[in-house]
Amino acid sequence: MAKTRQITSHWTGPTEGWTLVIHGGAGQLKREQVGAEGDAHARAAIAAALDAGASILAGHGSALDAVEAAVRVLEDDPHFNAGRGSVFSAEGINELDAAIMEGTTREAGAVSAVTKARHPVALARAVMEQSPHVMLTAAGADRFGAEHGLEQAAPAWFHTDERWRQYEELRAGGTFDADLKYGTVGAVARDTQGRLAAATSTGGLTGKRWNRIGDSPVIGAGTWADDRGAATSCTGSGEHFIRVGAAHELSARVRLAGAALGEAGDGVIGEIGAIGGVGGLISVDHEGRGGWSFNSGGMYRGMARADQPQVVAIYGDE
Ligand code: ASP
Repeated sequence: MAKTRQITSHWTGPTEGWTLVIHGGAGQLKREQVGAEGDAHARAAIAAALDAGASILAGHGSALDAVEAAVRVLEDDPHFNAGRGSVFSAEGINELDAAIMEGTTREAGAVSAVTKARHPVALARAVMEQSPHVMLTAAGADRFGAEHGLEQAAPAWFHTDERWRQYEELRAGGTFDADLKYGTVGAVARDTQGRLAAATSTGGLTGKRWNRIGDSPVIGAGTWADDRGAATSCTGSGEHFIRVGAAHELSARVRLAGAALGEAGDGVIGEIGAIGGVGGLISVDHEGRGGWSFNSGGMYRGMARADQPQVVAIYGDE
């Protein structure tokens, strides 16, 4: 029997203006582990990502542009497990996964196990807009990115000494505290025209083997957007989120079962916990409700709305 995990959540009411919610990964996240410096850096990075998305939404830009902009900021930040600063696979390679989805048309793009795109989320968007496909993987996806003029980066761009240290520790048979650095990143938004979008980007799990792919780039699992339901980005033990079809499940509860957004979000995290999973999600609906739910102790997260001050939080008790 999986042990019951406490769920922490926060959900706002509707707004006619725009709403943006982002995450930088779920984990145990104790204050003493994160430290004052880590805490300050994470909060500044989350605020910067919120600003990037909010300036687009405030100018009546699209939810799609906003989620991409927010995720790009966190992909470039070496502290987060996405883009630069991603974890290493068992072969010592950064294999990156990302997805993006637009809720009006339900167009979607995703890439998995890519190694060359500076911004995997932008590559996912290019797959969505410039190919007839939804998901491309590994060398083929990298080739698609180069052929379509996406910004390319050498392995050294993604490499950070801290992630390499974690990889070596794992290879030496030790354990390391995966919470010491931040995780997967994601963003969901509702724009002033009521359109929804979601994006997620990750380096996946340290020491992953056999081209393991988690939930993040799997449309309906880690990432989903549907104006009739909700837009969601997940983080946590990806295999469980795939098995629950988490992001789609949340939207279906709103659309088909008439659940309130928060009830649906907490319900999905409850299902994740019931099968032994740990993590969290962020979500928005077409009436501008937004928020998060997690059973992991903490989650790097933030929310911005047209009519309210920015909120940034890390721990479960704030
Ligand atoms: N969900 C991601 C994966 O399984 C990892 C994470 O969010 O920390 O690849």
